[in-house]
Amino acid sequence: MKITVLGATGSIGVSTLDVISRHPDRFEVVALTGHARIEALAEQCRRFRPAYAVVGDPEAAKRLTGMLDDDAVTEVLHGPRALCEVACLPEIDAVMAAIVGAAGLPPTLAAARAGKRVLLANKEALVMAGAVFMAEVHRAGALLLPIDSEHNAIFQSMPGDYAGNMARGGVRRILLTASGGPFRETPVEQLQSVTPAQAVAHPNWSMGRKISVDSATMMNKGLEVIEAHWLFNAPADRIEVVIHPQSVIHSLVDYADGSVLAQLGNPDMRTPIAHALAWPERIDSGVAPLDLFAIGQLNFERPDGARFPCLDLAYRALRAGGNAAAVLNAANELAVEAFLDGRLPFLAIADTIAATLDQVPRAELPDLDAVLETDRQARLAAAKILAHRGG
Ligand code: NAD
Ligand code: MG
Repeated sequence: MKITVLGATGSIGVSTLDVISRHPDRFEVVALTGHARIEALAEQCRRFRPAYAVVGDPEAAKRLTGMLDDDAVTEVLHGPRALCEVACLPEIDAVMAAIVGAAGLPPTLAAARAGKRVLLANKEALVMAGAVFMAEVHRAGALLLPIDSEHNAIFQSMPGDYAGNMARGGVRRILLTASGGPFRETPVEQLQSVTPAQAVAHPNWSMGRKISVDSATMMNKGLEVIEAHWLFNAPADRIEVVIHPQSVIHSLVDYADGSVLAQLGNPDMRTPIAHALAWPERIDSGVAPLDLFAIGQLNFERPDGARFPCLDLAYRALRAGGNAAAVLNAANELAVEAFLDGRLPFLAIADTIAATLDQVPRAELPDLDAVLETDRQARLAAAKILAHRGG
């Protein structure tokens, strides 16, 4: 299988290349992309010898070219258009969509439009543009396989043609598990003063900085509720969030007959990555076997709405429909960035998102241009709100 890895230098990208490197007979890397860590990308190019590498701008392209040998096989490209080009090359079969945030939407959509096997880690793409994205997947006959561990678990627990499964009946509820993040038990009055370093120190998963903050606010779970809505055609009131601090059960599907199917495993993203790379086959991912005796027990709690207001904001945006989820996503990206830069207190992340949702008028999102216009408007509104707060 020939593959493009978008966001190769990130947490998911590195795990993807780790799985790929275990199966050189099965996978061939055709293109890699990276944004900031050019040296890491150069190392990956030396190792995997892709035909193309994409970076953000001409300066980074020059640096990367300088780091590669004269006899390098890799053509270095740059910019958003090049990202879309390597996502729909005729010679590739699959695209790992692992760019973080809204920047990943255009190339992920390009891969779907080209009818590729799309391994979707970039949940923000689906949150912003769910209707447009799913319409393109169906029109082009793309194979959409979720990488997010919860959605991958749901996919594995819903045999058959999963898209539209909820609509056909038989499925009562989707139960999305959440670890509760680093602040599950922190006294609420201390949340005001938590630092970025505390917020990105996730108890179970090692991830990029943005998704780690999303896990601490539980906006990550909110984005995942919206993601599940689009992937599985599930209405908001049939997606329930369950806090499960051990992160061993990655999600569950509750059926009409009382059966509940779940997928379990160690919290290591190489499992869902290997699952989606090889589907419908199974391959070694390098993940250790699950040791239930060492784990001992599995616990479950109801999420606390007062502690995690972002979860409720996401449900509200999903129920509002139209552009609300795209506004939520853009405001969250800016607020998280401000928090990581030390410009915004942790609890003000939710306030900023709520205020942005109030300010940007509701609209329908019939196409990518409309999605990008909402994203632009919401970023402007959120930036004003942040500036007003002195953030
Ligand atoms: P990360 O920050 O570690 O990596 C992000 C990647 O995107 C990097 O390769 C970076 O160079 C690239 N990138 C960043 N900004 C870019 C831009 N403007 N243009 C082009 N490329 C850009 O993030 P991650 O943790 O690997 O997460 C990637 C995606 O996968 C996110 O959408 C996240 O929500 C999702 N995801 C991650 C995990 C995880 O365990 N890390 C789990 C589930 C879902
Ligand atoms: Mg997840």
